[in-house]
Order: sequence, then C-alpha cells, then structure tokens
Amino acid sequence: MPQKTSTHASSHKKPDKRMLPGRVTLTEGKAGKQFPGIDDLVSKLRFSVKDGQIWFDTQRVTLIHLSTLTALRHELINSLGKNKARGFLTRMGWESGARDAHMARRTHAGSRFSDQFLVGLQLRRLQGVADTRVIDFEADLKSGHFFADFSWPESFEAKAHVSAYGVSDSPVCWLQIGYYCGYSSTLMGRTILFHEVECMASGGSRCRIVGKPLQEWGRESDEFDDAFSFLRPEPFVNQFDEHPPRTSFLQKAPERTGDLANLPSNLIGVSAGFTAACYLLKKVVPTGATVLFHGETGVGKEVFARTLHHISPRADRPFVAVDCAAISDDQFDSEMFGVADGAFGGATTMRPGRFERADGGTLFLDEVDSLSLASQLKLLRAVQDKEVERIGDTRVTKVDVRIISATSIDLHQAVANGSFRRDLLYRLHVFPIHLLPLRERRDDIPLLMDHFLARFAKQHGKKTPGFTSRAVEMLYTYDYPGNVRELENLIERAVILCDQDEPIDPGHLFTSDSQMQPVLMTLGKTGELAAELRESGSGHQDFDKAIDGFLEKGVSLKDVENHILERAVEQSEGNLAEAARRLGLTRPQLAYRLKKAQD
Ligand SMILES: [Zn+2]
Repeated sequence: MPQKTSTHASSHKKPDKRMLPGRVTLTEGKAGKQFPGIDDLVSKLRFSVKDGQIWFDTQRVTLIHLSTLTALRHELINSLGKNKARGFLTRMGWESGARDAHMARRTHAGSRFSDQFLVGLQLRRLQGVADTRVIDFEADLKSGHFFADFSWPESFEAKAHVSAYGVSDSPVCWLQIGYYCGYSSTLMGRTILFHEVECMASGGSRCRIVGKPLQEWGRESDEFDDAFSFLRPEPFVNQFDEHPPRTSFLQKAPERTGDLANLPSNLIGVSAGFTAACYLLKKVVPTGATVLFHGETGVGKEVFARTLHHISPRADRPFVAVDCAAISDDQFDSEMFGVADGAFGGATTMRPGRFERADGGTLFLDEVDSLSLASQLKLLRAVQDKEVERIGDTRVTKVDVRIISATSIDLHQAVANGSFRRDLLYRLHVFPIHLLPLRERRDDIPLLMDHFLARFAKQHGKKTPGFTSRAVEMLYTYDYPGNVRELENLIERAVILCDQDEPIDPGHLFTSDSQMQPVLMTLGKTGELAAELRESGSGHQDFDKAIDGFLEKGVSLKDVENHILERAVEQSEGNLAEAARRLGLTRPQLAYRLKKAQD
C-alpha cells in the first residue's frame, strides 16, 4: 500500500534529503522484503511449563487477555481521567519499547541499523499488537537524523476506546505511541517522539504515526506534555544502559555515591527474593546491628556482606573477612586476637589479630558454624566484651567492630545437635537475612548472564555476539547447585573456550551431556508447542540421511559447506546479516567464508 508523500500533513514533513553517510532510507515498496526474518524471534519465545514461566529472550513475560488490558484501560480513564491515563499507558508502552530495543540491539548486533530497527515492527506483530507498516523511514545513528512514518490497519486501542466512549476527538493509540517512542529513543540514544496524525478512533481509515527527534517538533510538542511527563526532568535517560536495571535499591542509595560505583558488581538481580534481601540489607545498614547471612554455597553471602560494609558509615574503615573453616583451634587465638611482642620467645612475632585489624570497620565471619565449641566460646567473649587480648600480653585492647557472619546450615538445628553454642547464636542472629538459591530466583539469571559475559569478555579480550538460543535455554533451566558462583564459573569457562566472534554454545558451558536436559518448549513452524529437537533426537534422521547421501557420492566437506552458504544467502535474498543469523554465524564470519569459497 504505497503512500504518496503528499499525504503528509504540512507540519509532519520530513527534513531535507541531504545524503548523510550511513543514512538508511526505506520506503514501503521495498520494506516488505527487507523485514528481517521472524523465525529467529519466534525461537526466542520459550515455554517452561514445568515452572509455569514464559521467557522471551532474556525477559519473563506472561500471556494476558486483551479483554483484561481493555478493562484496565477503562478503569484507568475512569479513575484518573483521560490525560493521566494517557500518560500512564504511554509510559507502559515506552517501557516495553525500550526493553525490546535492547533485545534488538543484542540479537541483531552487527546487522544494518535498518534491520535492527525493523525488529521492533516484527516484535509488534509477534506480540499480537499491530501489523505496523512502513510508509517512510530514514535514520542515521551518527548524525542523529530520524524520520519515521508508520501505519497500522487495525488497532485494539482504537476499538476499545470507541466501544466505550464513542468516536474520539483526538488519537488514542497511547500504548503504541509510547512503544515506538521508547523503542526509537533507546536505539537512537536520543529522544525521539511520535505523534499520531491519523487514528481509527477519531474517524481515520487507519492509524498513522510520525516520529522525529524532540527538538524538531514545533508547537505540537505542547500536546506531548502530559503524555510524556515521565521524561522530565531529563528528556531521555538511557535507563537500562547495557543491562536492565539491577535493583532500585542500588540506584537509589543516596549517601556515599562515590563508593557505590565501586561496589562488588555481582550484586545483581530483579527477582522478588533478591529484592526482599536488598530491602532488609538497606534497613539494617544504618543500625550497626549484627547481621547473619544464611544461604547455600555460592549465593553471594560475602558479596552482600561487603556491600553492607561499603554503604554503611563504616565504609572508610577496614572490611576484614575470616574464613572460619580455614582456622584450626590452635590458630584461633593468634589469628583472631593477635600476638604480643616476644610471645613466642622472638622479638619479631608481634602482629595484631583480625579483630584489631577490623577496628572501626566490619569483621566478616564466613562459615561461622565450622568453629569448634572452644573457639565459639572465645569468639562469644570477644563479641560480648568488645575487647581482645593478644597472646603473650596482659593488656586488653578495646575494639569497635561490626560483626557480620554467614552460614549455609541451619544454626538452630546445630544448637539442637549440640554443635553450636546457643548464646553465640543469639549474639549473631540479631538480624538474619536469608539468600535464596539461584534456582529459586530464576528471574535474575538473564541479568547475571549479561553481566558475567560482559565482564569476562573484557577481562579475557574476547569478542562474542552473545549466547546461542540453546545456550540460553540451558542456562535458564539448569539447577545451579553451586548458585551464582557456578554460573559465574560456567560463563568464564565458556568465554575462554569460545573463539573470537563466536557465540557461546552449550558445548562451551557444560562438559557433560547429563547436565543438558531440554525442559523448555518453543513454538513450531505451524504454531504448535514442542520441545526443541536435540542432536540425538529422531528429528535428525533426515539430517543423517542427507549426510549419508553426500558421503556415498564422495562430495567434499568444502563443497557441502559452500553449498550451505550459498543456499542460506539465496534464501535470505542476498541479505548477508540474515543469512549469517540462519547459519549461527556473525556477518563478518559469513563474509569471510564466502570470500574463501570463491578463492
Ligand atoms: Zn490509533
């Protein structure tokens, strides 16, 4: 349905067509063919029926009835008024647009900017929102030039509005507007605002939106005011940066911002369990109370303890960690309380213990349950009296330390068994914080994956486009007996094993097949829900047959490879980025192989 430029309202004329380097121009005639394939997006939608979860790429999603959304829309308008409801829904659209932009950037890294951008339109189709069509689109990332003119022939927002309130005097596709604003602003890195110039709710034959950078809008921008009030005071903050938000707790902690930047960066999560632990942490920070972290090995007890110290008023003083499991009964006094001059007959033995070294700061007792009963008694006295006595000394030294301890066992049970002192438990257990195992807070896995990948890629000088779908699936469903630390180790190993520019595959992550069990289901070509095919599965019989055929005919490996490359390019109609995606390669890798094939 090609549109003439003359249909542009005068105020929505696009800027002069100066040829900017790297500018992408796309008109509807070509757009149909140039849409990136939707298969790879479909494959990112996974159903984990076992846990009652649906994942779309690295985000959890839910299926919600359109009628529920419509009811919510009415409720908002009726209780907040049209303007506030419009702002609310625009914001909601913005959030999902911004998230999708991050996904498009990640999944289509290396693709042309126009391909990356059009993923958003494909996503709207896949999400069942609207079949968005391109009337005109120009964007140049470098100069910030942006002009878009999109339309859609059917709108649930318009329908919902008209059926409840009759024909509207102004456009009503607020969710869609918000979506494209959030999506475009995030991809462009500057505020792009869309205006609906034609809407089915106000008598149009379709809905049509025009988008431009904020600065290029004239008087119309007054109308934006209410809808985009959430963008004030700063027009556009790239709120998700490379990663979605860690936790509001870290972002909002106002005191000691200097130190927050240097916080142990593994404290990442959005799950309810994680957020609850952060909430408790924030509550206890200013009190100076004794804290006990409880949770399985590898859940991040020490990371939490360090964070507590760093955002507490004691941050300028030392944080001293003691691995109680590594201290024998014989060493306990000298390690914890120190040694006085000449205590062992020599002159150079003097050294302060951990308590003294932590003076004014925090003493972290990891695996505190592994201390013997005798050591527990000595610890109890030091904690109670706030003073220590070095070996060979007669003087006592006052110490001011905040005690944080950690255990992976149930200390109440240990008291019942007689292996832990009840009085010490009461001293340490003033403010307990339980940290959930990673398998019980799976929402945090995508964030942690991105975080560790970025960190280790930098550390080991590796460039990788990310994880393959199968790797993502494995990492989402794995049980992580070793928790966050295990995930961290898996990803570091994979980064080391993978080649430059190669995506991370299950083979890089897991050493034994037994660890890889398919649990997720994806949508098949005809829309059926099915477990993904495994290499050993029966779905590969055809594949084996084809290979047998090649082998019988004596076709060389090089010929097979060249043929596959050519077919992929043909099927993608010459679009190399698309062909590369189908082959699980990056665009440069494909270009290199094609060049080699011609030599
Ligand atoms: Zn509309």
